[in-house]
Amino acid sequence: MTQATSEATISRRGDIQRWSRTLIPTAREAPADAELPSHRLLVRAGCIRRLTAGVYDYLPLGLRVLRKISQIVREEMDAAGGSELLLPALCPTELLKETGRAEDYGDLLFRFEDRHGRDSYLGPTHEEVITEMARSAITSYKQLPLNLYQIQTKYRDEFRPRAGLLRGREFLMKDAYSFHLSIDGPGGLEEGYDAMYQAYVRIFTRCGLDFSVVEAEAGPIGGSASHEFMVNCETGEDTIMVCPETGYAANVEKCEIGDRGAPEQGWFAGDPSGDLEEVHTPDCPGIEDVCKLLKVKPRHMLKTVVFHATDDDAPARWVIAVVRGDQDVNEGKIRDAVGGGVALADVEKAKKAGFAIGYVSPRAVKLDGVLMLVDPDAAAGIDADKGKPMFWVTGADKKDHHVKHFNWARDLGVDAASAANVRVASIRNAAAGDPSPRAPGATLEARRGIEVGHIFKLGAKYSDAMGFAIMDETQQRKSVIMGCYGIGVSRAMAACVEMSHDDNGIVWPAAVAPYHVIITLMRPDDASHAQAAAKLAAELSARGLDVLIDDRAERPGVKFNDADLIGVPVRLTIGDKALAQNGVEFKARSDTGKGELVPLDDVVARCAASVFE
Ligand code: ATP
Ligand code: MG
Repeated sequence: MTQATSEATISRRGDIQRWSRTLIPTAREAPADAELPSHRLLVRAGCIRRLTAGVYDYLPLGLRVLRKISQIVREEMDAAGGSELLLPALCPTELLKETGRAEDYGDLLFRFEDRHGRDSYLGPTHEEVITEMARSAITSYKQLPLNLYQIQTKYRDEFRPRAGLLRGREFLMKDAYSFHLSIDGPGGLEEGYDAMYQAYVRIFTRCGLDFSVVEAEAGPIGGSASHEFMVNCETGEDTIMVCPETGYAANVEKCEIGDRGAPEQGWFAGDPSGDLEEVHTPDCPGIEDVCKLLKVKPRHMLKTVVFHATDDDAPARWVIAVVRGDQDVNEGKIRDAVGGGVALADVEKAKKAGFAIGYVSPRAVKLDGVLMLVDPDAAAGIDADKGKPMFWVTGADKKDHHVKHFNWARDLGVDAASAANVRVASIRNAAAGDPSPRAPGATLEARRGIEVGHIFKLGAKYSDAMGFAIMDETQQRKSVIMGCYGIGVSRAMAACVEMSHDDNGIVWPAAVAPYHVIITLMRPDDASHAQAAAKLAAELSARGLDVLIDDRAERPGVKFNDADLIGVPVRLTIGDKALAQNGVEFKARSDTGKGELVPLDDVVARCAASVFE
């Protein structure tokens, strides 16, 4: 914990609440659909309740955690020069016309007509809304640089809301936007981005999260234009590729692959594995279906994906990408290899141009205006592992048919090694075991993570689309350069639980715990016990500690279990035996052993040390 935090916490009086006066509906059973610990435990601990798919009530305990995380975010954003504002969640869809994002979002957007027939949406994020505001409110270079942020409920109609707060349809996000007149130099985007990067490191550290920062999708201005903050956690949805030698880490879409060097004989060389054989493969829309039917492994399939170029001056109208069946085409890498924009081909248009979509083979390279990119693994003619001719299965370029024993040299119809429209290029997602792009000889490892934050250099993407430009010092009109920075606040709450729990319940990191201390009364009906608890709570509060007094008329065993379940960092138990010795039983939640007797005079200091250090 930083100096500033502990001082801020100490100067504030802690809250005191009695369990009997609030609502903490703990439960023994988890919801049937809850697969992940954070989902199970947040519901069981009475922090959240599901209203409908991907939408949750935050009960008092859950809200306290959400507030604590929000407060950490706020403090660090303010310290980094940000100013908080609040934009509407209800927005006119007209705004998205300027950037074309209504189409990009598609079904993810909660969109509806109001009573006057105006097309409206609930904000999934707010680039357009803030740019709309900024383009009228920011008129002089003297107002820049600027960083504006909000902590707000966002709406995304996720196809598969899952795991409680991890992927909701309504969730709390901190989104920040920075505005600059240059990329480099004082006040530029790089400087602002760097400040956010550092602020994020402080935020997630203070939240007690174990995280990695990874390079993510490159933006319009190239370079490492985007970073994701990933909580290291096996249950995470995202795959992170890591070079263990250099610490290079990138998300699987962005991760580069080290040199995969051409084989001795060159690409595409090697004898056929057999006669080319056409097979009937009805009702096999996907690679897996074909593999099952033909009893071949996906690594023996050549997958051919058809793209069309989106730039007018592109080298070819169509780009076909060939990768091994067990690997995934990477659109960003295709874009880099082509040197211009590409998009998945429209099925009908592609069919008209002669592509048998679903059954396309590399032989489609002979169609008009095609550039073919082949990933090195797919360009192999010899199976290096077995020292035998490579056995390839691919589409037959006609519906419901595939071919076996495809051979690059014999069956392509053009000489792949010399044809001008055939290139070998690294165009697939990285996978575990691939050569590291940073250290020769090292191989990439795959880890799992939960994306809790994402920072992005937008450049002039939104300002150009929305006409946001101002005069600079030399009276030149310039597009405003922007960055955007998101944190999933409610997702971070779930990530804390995902990372920190045991068989008995949540083990909140102290900085985000709903209460710091729970005082459990063995005999709440005994006035002297109640008095001792009230006095202790007041002292703890004066020390800046939030206290929950479990004054319920329940058996001690029930209360101990509940205290463990809700994960408050310190439990103090007041009972006859301890009081007779002028003490209380002290037990840290993270401590698996038994509690220990601590004299009443020492207990506040002991709690403070346990929570703040
Ligand atoms: P994901 O890839 O997980 O769908 P994203 O990259 O689309 O997320 P961003 O647009 O970068 O999300 O949003 C910023 C942050 O908001 C994310 O880093 C994540 O922490 C959080 N977030 C995004 N979608 C959700 C969701 N459905 N539920 C909870 N948090 C979310
Ligand atoms: Mg993201």
